[in-house]
Amino acid sequence: METTDAFVGLVCVDCGATFDPAAVTHRCPDCDGILDPQYDLDSVSLARDEVADRPFDSMWRYGELLPFPRERAVTMYEGATALVECPELADDLGVGRLLLKDEGRNPTGTFKDRGQTVAVTAAVEHGAEDVALASAGNAGQAAAAYAARAGLDAHVFLPSRAGFTQKAMVNVHGGDLTVVGGRIGDAGEAFQQAMEDNPDWYPVQTFVTPYRHDGKKTMLYETVEQLDWEVPDAVVYPTGGGVGLVGMHKGAKEFQELGLINELPGMYAAQSTGCAPIVDAFEAGAEVHEAVEHPDTICGGVEIPDPGASPLILEALRESDGGAVATDDDEILEAAVRVAQREGLEIGHTCAAAASGAFELAARGEFGEDDTVVILNTGTANKNADVLRSHLMSKGV
Ligand SMILES: *Cc1c(COP(=O)(O)O)cnc(C)c1O
Ligand SMILES: [Zn+2]
Repeated sequence: METTDAFVGLVCVDCGATFDPAAVTHRCPDCDGILDPQYDLDSVSLARDEVADRPFDSMWRYGELLPFPRERAVTMYEGATALVECPELADDLGVGRLLLKDEGRNPTGTFKDRGQTVAVTAAVEHGAEDVALASAGNAGQAAAAYAARAGLDAHVFLPSRAGFTQKAMVNVHGGDLTVVGGRIGDAGEAFQQAMEDNPDWYPVQTFVTPYRHDGKKTMLYETVEQLDWEVPDAVVYPTGGGVGLVGMHKGAKEFQELGLINELPGMYAAQSTGCAPIVDAFEAGAEVHEAVEHPDTICGGVEIPDPGASPLILEALRESDGGAVATDDDEILEAAVRVAQREGLEIGHTCAAAASGAFELAARGEFGEDDTVVILNTGTANKNADVLRSHLMSKGV
C-alpha cells in the first residue's frame, strides 16, 4: 500500500494507540474507538504562495496532507468548489461578509464526494472488491459513483425515506441497492446484518472508515485559501454525524500547526429541532450526546439521532469557541427559499439548516458587525427540489 510521506499512522481517539494503516483498516483493534489519520507536520513545508500557485482543480491539490498520493486516488476532481459572496444576506444579518461554500458543485452534487474519494481509494489500496455502507442518501450515491470509477461493487443500504434521486443514482452507477423500511437506524441495522453475512465487504461507513472526515477537512483548507488566508469568524455547518465539522476543525488545527493561519474559526453546529442531539448536549454542557428517541425532521441528511462521534463534535465546538443552534423545519425550508430568492443560490433542504441556523445566531447577537461568516452548502437543491416545492405549496404558492 502506498501512502504519503507525512502520514505516520492511525491514532485511536479513545485509547491513543497508533496503528499502521497498511495493517489496520477501520476501527481501533484494541478498544473499537474511531481512528484518525495523523501527519508529521514538521516534515511538511508548505508556504502560502506555494499552495496558491497550484491549479485550483481538486481537493487533491493538498496532496501532502492527505493519506494517499494523488496519482493513486480514485478521483473525479471533487472539491475546489466556489466560495460565493452573499452581500444581500450579509446586509440582512448585519455582518461584514457572508459567504457560501457551495459543495453542490461536486461530481454527485454533495460534499460526500470528498469523503468517498479518500475512503474508496483506501478500499482499493487494501485490495477490497466490494464496498458497503448505510446512508441517508447522499453518501450512498457518492459511494456508488466512486466504486463504479474504481471498478468495485457497492452495496448501499438506504431508508425508504431517502430521496428518489439518491436511490435512482445508486442503481444507475450499477450499485446493489437495498431500500429498508423506516429511517436511518433501520438501514444501519440491515447493513450490520449484511456485514456479518459478508465479512469481506469493506465498509465506507461514517467514522467506521478513518478516511471520510480526513477528506472533508479540505473544505476548511479551501475556504481559508479562498479568503486570502483570512480565518472566518464563524463556520456554520448542517450537522448530522458531524464528519464534515470534525474534519474542518482538524484541517484548521493542521493549518495552524503549519503556520499558515494563527487562529481557529468558530465552528457552529446547526440542526433541526426535530433531531438536535448535538445542540442539546452542547447547551447542557455535556461531553457526549443522548440519543434522540423519536427523530422527526424532513432534513434527512441531519436526521442522525445517535451520532457516535458526538464527543469529537462537541470538543470541536468548544475548542474553537463556536456554538450550536437548532431551528424548526418550517424555518429551515423558508431559509432555503430565501437564499434562492435573495442570492440565486440553490441550497439543499438539509443544508438550509445551516442558513437558518446562521439567521438565528445573528438574531441572537452572536456575530459582530465586521464578522466574516461562512455557511456550508453541503449539497445542491436540485436533488430534492420536490421538498422545497412542496413547502411553497403548503404556503399556497
Ligand atoms: C450527510 C449530509 C450532512 C451531514 O453531514 P455530517 O458531516 O455527517 O454531519 C449534511 N448535509 C447533507 C446534504 C448531507 O448529505
Ligand atoms: Zn483504541
